[in-house]
Amino acid sequence: MTKKNNIVDYAKWVETMWVSEKNSNSLPIASLGLAGETGEALEHIKKLLRDGKWDETAFKKEMGDVIYYWCKILNHFDITPTDVLSANVKKIEDRRARKVQQGSGDNR
Ligand SMILES: [Mg+2]
Repeated sequence: MTKKNNIVDYAKWVETMWVSEKNSNSLPIASLGLAGETGEALEHIKKLLRDGKWDETAFKKEMGDVIYYWCKILNHFDITPTDVLSANVKKIEDRRARKVQQGSGDNR
């Protein structure tokens, strides 16, 4: 495997590491994994706000877990991470240009 420190190669590597393929529940497992790991990452922010304690190493591990499941979900739909990143940049820059970055609604 090539370098795993760029998002495209990392997403390919995720496929080689995934162990739940046999039960055909990969999408729900990855989806629940994304939600669970997001919660684990947010717990560290909660502890920072509540207790003033910050564990950057643990936070980075949880954010890595988030990316792992995020990539697995994209892989399931044959969507590349770069497609998502490009679409997001386009959306955010368009909102900025129209001065609607703040506010709510997906289709501002
Ligand atoms: Mg975790």
